[in-house]
Amino acid sequence: MSDIWKRSSNILLIIFIAAVLWMIFGAVKALIFFSAVLLWMVFHHVRHLVALERWLQRSDHSPASIPAGSCAWDDVFAHLSRYVRQHSQSQELLSLALERMRNVTSAMPDGIVILDEVDRIEWCNRVAEQHLGIHLSLDAGQQITYLVRQIPFVEYLAARQYSSPLIMKQTRLKDLIISLQLVPYGYNQKLLISRDITRFEKIETMRRDFIANVSHELRTPLTVIGGFLETLSADDNVNTGFNKRALALMTEQTTRMQRLIEDLLILSRLENEQNKINEKIVDVVSLLHNILQDAESLSAGRHQIKLNIATQDQLMGSEEELRSAFSNLISNAIRYTPDRGEISINWEKHKGQGLFYVQDSGIGIEAEHIPRLTERFYRIDSSRSRETGGTGLGLAIVKHVLSRHEARLEIISQVGKGSRFNIWFPAERLIP
Ligand code: ADP
Repeated sequence: MSDIWKRSSNILLIIFIAAVLWMIFGAVKALIFFSAVLLWMVFHHVRHLVALERWLQRSDHSPASIPAGSCAWDDVFAHLSRYVRQHSQSQELLSLALERMRNVTSAMPDGIVILDEVDRIEWCNRVAEQHLGIHLSLDAGQQITYLVRQIPFVEYLAARQYSSPLIMKQTRLKDLIISLQLVPYGYNQKLLISRDITRFEKIETMRRDFIANVSHELRTPLTVIGGFLETLSADDNVNTGFNKRALALMTEQTTRMQRLIEDLLILSRLENEQNKINEKIVDVVSLLHNILQDAESLSAGRHQIKLNIATQDQLMGSEEELRSAFSNLISNAIRYTPDRGEISINWEKHKGQGLFYVQDSGIGIEAEHIPRLTERFYRIDSSRSRETGGTGLGLAIVKHVLSRHEARLEIISQVGKGSRFNIWFPAERLIP
């Protein structure tokens, strides 16, 4: 309110002087005076407006370049100068923060690409340029799939599956293996983080090769030992007294080692990516009837085993691998279910997906162990596993077989009541 009075005081003074002039010199002189003052005021404002407009059109908007004003315009230009000074200070802080962020991301060992909502490159650091073979100065604004054309990458980007990374082996740089991870942020924008995992992959390959070679090398000597033990056990002159006990124990341990070696070889075959899955149409029903016979001979009448077939659908996959996965789950059910327990083997179809499951009334599994069961050699009770002929690799084999068939394992269990192992097969693998 006080501002309005301050601004109007000049007008009121002029009106007052005009009124006094009217009374002393008459209306004409008073009006001439009033018009002259108004004209001068209009000219004053226009002059300052022109100065303001010229300043706005300049490219340099520094506080020093703001024109000087008089009367009311002095205050306006002072406010403008303060505003410009604050603005340039915050802009300086922003560019400092941006510069710092760029320095940090450039120093990072991982590559970072910022993608907009339609996957165009907005910015990337130098490591990402090396990993993906792009050049920011030339490629900014380009669709990333025009530059990184590998099909797995294009599919990964389209799938929008942000939870798991993509391992890419055929990059532009020879011998480079990178892991790519998409991270969504802001409004439909994405960060693409690339990491050089060449060394890890090499170590992993060495580990796999080492296990495969050792297992392979041990197989022949064990077969020879097993053969001699069999011959000696059959010889009634040798197989007596202490020898009998020693031979039985040696045969048992040799068989255990042979089982272990066989499981290790199966695992390394499944892990080997060059070892492509040998797919064909698998008649699940007849496969399960077949496995049922093995299960009954393993149980030797100690359990009640039922086979429930609710669908005749067949599966696209490797018969050998599926047999191994199903048999492992069934043999576990038999080994971890006390005598007279019930076991059911089931093949069903649910919402288009294939469901194979084994249910037992056995010892059950505590919830804390369930997430780790598919790790190699993870056992809840090692002595029980060994006693029943387990190698600790059964569920690891199941996990690998399922990942090669895009299938999913689900474990539901209650201690003392029993367990249920579900395998869900995708609809695309079912053949009605
Ligand atoms: P193992 O040869 O020891 O059975 P697996 O990989 O097949 O190895 O299983 C890992 C562990 O999971 C087992 O040692 C056992 O403790 C537990 N397990 C697997 N299946 C069952 C089941 N049906 N009931 C209870 N525990 C089970």
